[in-house]
Amino acid sequence: MTQPTLPQPTLTEFVSGLADYDPNALPVAQAQRIVQEFVQPIHGIETVTIWQALDRVLAADVISPISVPAHDNSAMDGFAFQGPDLLPDAATQFSIVGTVYAGRTFDGSVGRGECVRIMTGAVMPAGCDTVVPQEFTQHASDTTVTVPHGVVRTGDNRRLMGEDLQAGKAALTQGRILRSADLGLLASLGIGQIMVQRRLRVAFFSTGDELRSLGDALDAGCIYDSNRYTLFGMLTRLGCELIDMGVVKDDPASLEAALRSACANADAIITSGGVSVGAADYTKQIVAQLGDVTFWKIGMRPGRPMAFGTVTSGGKTAYLFGLPGNPVAVMVTFYFFARDALLRMMGTHSAPLPMLRAASATDIRKKPGRTEYQRGILSTDAAGNPIVRITGSQGSGVLRSMSEANCMVVLHHAQSNVQSGDPVDVVVFEGLV
Ligand code: AMP
Ligand code: MG
Repeated sequence: MTQPTLPQPTLTEFVSGLADYDPNALPVAQAQRIVQEFVQPIHGIETVTIWQALDRVLAADVISPISVPAHDNSAMDGFAFQGPDLLPDAATQFSIVGTVYAGRTFDGSVGRGECVRIMTGAVMPAGCDTVVPQEFTQHASDTTVTVPHGVVRTGDNRRLMGEDLQAGKAALTQGRILRSADLGLLASLGIGQIMVQRRLRVAFFSTGDELRSLGDALDAGCIYDSNRYTLFGMLTRLGCELIDMGVVKDDPASLEAALRSACANADAIITSGGVSVGAADYTKQIVAQLGDVTFWKIGMRPGRPMAFGTVTSGGKTAYLFGLPGNPVAVMVTFYFFARDALLRMMGTHSAPLPMLRAASATDIRKKPGRTEYQRGILSTDAAGNPIVRITGSQGSGVLRSMSEANCMVVLHHAQSNVQSGDPVDVVVFEGLV
């Protein structure tokens, strides 16, 4: 099994070189940069068939073995001829000298004033460079057809050889996450097997004595563990190989055993809970023994506390993301810190989540000096412009706000109160969660 290369320097060394670094008051942008620059891609490649390749990360450039299309061909059902035969200021009559269907070639020659009946996708007969669609023609019989003046110009309705993909050029580049169009594109090149990065192995568990698993009785004061299911969904969407480690009790021995076991099996470990003030003390001691983890207080809401670093056990090292316990905070910190880092580990050219601008439907209170992630519902106003309204209660424990939302409104670090109608940045969930 390949583990991520142990980063040099360690996180402690890495952050000690940063001028304005304060783990107790870390702006979101700085925390994102540290996480993103610190993690390293994993190594390990496997060959899969095209049927297994959806959402996998391409491990090497795919060079087109052929041009697509392989020949000039017709984009329409109609008649192919030489463009210069069209009369400059009148309708042109052509003699029909043959028919060519898709998947066939026309082996005869096409002279001046002659044309070939052609179907969409059929190879252009030698010498022909223009196609008039059937519906634009007049007086078509078995032997002649008339092309009215002005309905086509030379070169119209012809697809050029290699206009989709050129032989010898990179059709897809390393690091790309393969989506539906890419599968079709590979098939159009005749490629049925490709090399992809192995899946990233992510171990995850919830911490907390109050947590009960599904199927357990809910004792007084206890709650069901929901974070593990949210994390399961988010990690599955990213294409990770999951190691579900269940609920871990708030005691040092259980936590240490869980972290050691996770280290042995995973590239990254994601935990929820136990990183806020008070809870964190014994956690800090354990991770201090096992590795190099920093407990941050990030200038954000929700999700202020987060632990990040590496843990090592039995000679194996894994990155640790200790996310906060509150259900909304888990999702926010996952999307805005862990996601990009996991994508980088997976070998992708990760790009930050795309944002779009929408007018806020209401006033929003916002203090400068921290980033706020509010759950929103994006729609369009009567004029068709994007508009966003905040979902009801924004408490970091109110998972319903996340479930009802279709986007996150990002109120940036320096931003202050928003007036109704002001543009705000929005990250759309579709395709993400
Ligand atoms: P903590 O950071 O461990 O103090 O947790 C903060 C809050 O999140 C507490 O109210 C916890 O009960 C809640 N919480 C922690 N873990 C989970 C979980 N896995 N599922 C649901 N709620 C949780
Ligand atoms: Mg807890």
